[in-house]
Amino acid sequence: MNRAIVLSKPNDQFHAEIRNVDDAELEAATPGDDVAIDVAYSTINYKDGLALTNTSPVVRKWPMVAGIDAAGTVRTSSHARWRPGDSVVLNGWGLGETHWGGLCQRMRAKGDWLVRIPAPLHTREAMMLGTAGYTAALAVLALQAHGVTPGSGEILVTGATGGVGSVAVSLLAALGYAVAGSTGKSSEAEYLRTLGAREILDRATLAAPGKPLQKERWAGVIDSVGGVTLANACAQTRVGGTVAACGLAGGMDFPSTVAPFILRGVTLAGIDSVTASLERRETAWELLGANLPAARLAAMTREVALADAFDVAREILAGKIRGRVVVDVNR
Ligand code: NDP
Repeated sequence: MNRAIVLSKPNDQFHAEIRNVDDAELEAATPGDDVAIDVAYSTINYKDGLALTNTSPVVRKWPMVAGIDAAGTVRTSSHARWRPGDSVVLNGWGLGETHWGGLCQRMRAKGDWLVRIPAPLHTREAMMLGTAGYTAALAVLALQAHGVTPGSGEILVTGATGGVGSVAVSLLAALGYAVAGSTGKSSEAEYLRTLGAREILDRATLAAPGKPLQKERWAGVIDSVGGVTLANACAQTRVGGTVAACGLAGGMDFPSTVAPFILRGVTLAGIDSVTASLERRETAWELLGANLPAARLAAMTREVALADAFDVAREILAGKIRGRVVVDVNR
């Protein structure tokens, strides 16, 4: 049995269901893939929310097994790097968009896409982090690459109670950075302090259009909101600081000026988790493994069954999720 969330568009009508996908159907849909994986856990990211509700055109091939993330054990492999029993994590590369994804019990993928789960993480912890956590790690690596150290000054994390935000706050705090989290959920201030935030900002303070250059405050920013929030974050970044742009939870636009970049030497670093190289992926997962052990992750995660994925998808789009949601695909 391979229970999978299958998205389809018969007669141009969107349809989502959980059904069995047998090996023949799976192999026909994933030609050339050299590794078969028993999936243990998947997760719901913002992009999964968009795909499962057909809210924006995430899926570009029909039918599609949903899920941009998976962690599990290699069942069979003809790829030189992988042997049966290896624990692997997989995300991006069009998973759940152009390639059958991870909200299922069995999948197939290219061995070149897989990352070995670094100790002390296991499959469950890998999906507690998921694409959101791995993206937060890519953003932290971007700040580090541009010379932002714990001694540089405060780091702003926007969308702080979300998936990317929660992991970014935790990871930065574990690395010794002073973190300020901006959130629309004032009731979650204590949660953010538990993750390591030293200061909590009301996201409304970043939501109204502001001056091109504002009082310098942040040595670095990890932004998952976009729009006016990102523009204000850039305008408040100190000389030589770096802003890592990860997301668009608040909007796709970027109503900024060039002033922060040409008058303060601010760097705007784009974060793309989908096409990152294997080397960058491994570095990001190792950073997470070394700094976010299971006990830390538990504070930001809840677990659901496969059939709950649709409700969680609606919740994440409504901005109602705190932290991360891991999906046990076998229940
Ligand atoms: P979540 O929904 O978990 O987190 C987003 C957070 O943003 C919310 O929890 C909320 O935090 C805040 N938010 C939501 N709506 C608004 C709004 N209208 N205005 C301002 N703030 C808002 O999503 P993820 O963490 O999974 O993803 C965050 C973003 O990053 C998404 O846009 C996603 O598409 C993108 N992303 C990009 C990747 C990449 O490769 N570049 C990879 C992964 C994600 P709070 O209530 O605390 O303010």
